[in-house]
Amino acid sequence: MEKVIIIGSGPAGLTAAIYAARGQLEPIVLEGGFLPSGDLMTPGGQLMITTEVENFPGFPEGITGPDLVEKTREQAKRFGSRHLDAVAEEVDFSGFPLKVKVEGEWLESATVIIATGANARWLGLDSEQQYMNRGVSACATCDGAFFKDQKLLIVGGGDSAMEEALFLTRYATEVTIVHRRAEFRASKIMAERAVNHPKIKVAWNREVAEITGDGNKVTGARLASTTGEPDLEVACGGVFVAIGHTPNTGVFKDHIKLRDDGYVDVVEHCKTSAKGVFVAGDCADSHYRQAITAAGMGCMAALDAEKLLEEYEADGKLG
Ligand code: NAP
Repeated sequence: MEKVIIIGSGPAGLTAAIYAARGQLEPIVLEGGFLPSGDLMTPGGQLMITTEVENFPGFPEGITGPDLVEKTREQAKRFGSRHLDAVAEEVDFSGFPLKVKVEGEWLESATVIIATGANARWLGLDSEQQYMNRGVSACATCDGAFFKDQKLLIVGGGDSAMEEALFLTRYATEVTIVHRRAEFRASKIMAERAVNHPKIKVAWNREVAEITGDGNKVTGARLASTTGEPDLEVACGGVFVAIGHTPNTGVFKDHIKLRDDGYVDVVEHCKTSAKGVFVAGDCADSHYRQAITAAGMGCMAALDAEKLLEEYEADGKLG
């Protein structure tokens, strides 16, 4: 029986691995891959689609997302964590030991840390893929500073779109919120704050039909109308997509309590509703969604798991 299986290898999973490995728990890390649902749980998580990370403490010159992941992984391996290119295909958390199916075989473990992250929702345009990280982003906090003195678009009508639009006004000369309806989904207070901001405009009843560029970076977008008006061509240096995130929690839905929006329900500290199953990072956090907050929670989950293992040890449960 394993002591700890960590599902996910973004900053939450890998930080949990560092702590668990230093605690001599020899964790197994399921790095990721295609989930039974067909969705991709990217090994390394969302940092793998980020270019420069300038806000992770300890890197005054900045670091690329993939480099940060690789360094964190190496740090965990140095203390003995074991990494598999695999996902949790099925789980059984109904009793002790916990069970996780990996490549068709059931692994048994005293504790499990879920750190499967969330994926940003995208518009699904070819041009969005083409200009990913070259003007197209799903994280204003991460990438806003690269767009000083430019015109920017933000797509969406929820609280995230409002918050990100307001954040982007620090750098941009003008921010246009593109929303497919004539009314925001966001809370009234956030919507009013955005609408009343002198740098923010709203393109109501519009959808981004195409992101245009010079082959290397974004230079504009074509906005289609949802009410039958002609298309609009707008110039901009960046397109921020803020149409929500989907947590990678499908495989756990009948085994731990999830919130209505699919995120893991945190019972206390990093505990889930199943004994011995802990959670860290974006699959439990729709609010902060930062690499550093995920890493912090990964540390907390590993310490929680370690504490429970000490109790199990004292009870003679680990054999
Ligand atoms: P959300 O509330 O689900 O809003 C998503 C927005 O994107 C909606 O306006 C939706 O349009 C639009 N959208 C979805 N798919 C689209 C598509 N394919 N093309 C164009 N537009 C599309 O997501 P969120 O804003 O990320 O917020 C998630 C949760 O976190 C919410 O509960 C929110 O209140 C919370 N949150 C709170 C704060 C805060 O309090 N400071 C900040 C951020 C998030 P429709 O409206 O037409 O459906």
